[in-house]
Amino acid sequence: MPIERTLSIIKPDATRRDLTGKINTRFEEVGLRIAAQRRIHLTLDQAQGFYAVHKDRAFFDDLCKFMISGPVVVQVLEGENAIAKNREIMGATNPANADQGTIRKDFAESIEANSVHGSDSPKTAALEISYFFNELDIVG
Ligand code: ADP
Ligand code: MG
Repeated sequence: MPIERTLSIIKPDATRRDLTGKINTRFEEVGLRIAAQRRIHLTLDQAQGFYAVHKDRAFFDDLCKFMISGPVVVQVLEGENAIAKNREIMGATNPANADQGTIRKDFAESIEANSVHGSDSPKTAALEISYFFNELDIVG
């Protein structure tokens, strides 16, 4: 299995409830090392840029408003098969459809306020990591 890096974001609904530690434990329990991490408050421009791929979707404006409603924790997770492994432990976008024991099943408030983001492919992971981190910030 390849060692990969993926971009994770702990979203405002989760930081508001101080769930950062509990969510980070989920990553570490499955062998995803937190190789970089920063707590920030996104600007609207930064949120719109990050989610540009969704700019034509009906939920785009609300999503960006939600993402700037409080702090987020941006992080690089590193480990074997990190991209798919993180998506697996995150669970489905809509917590109502998420498997038992996943982060979204256990913590998400709604399809929008669903606690975590995770890159969905190697290409997206590289792009999303570089959106927030320099290579020198990442220590695996
Ligand atoms: P994922 O985060 O699982 O990769 P998407 O990339 O499809 O999901 O969507 C990005 C984010 O947009 C979701 O995590 C969620 O916060 C929000 N979102 C997606 N679909 C909806 C929807 N139908 N209504 C409201 N918000 C949504
Ligand atoms: Mg996505």
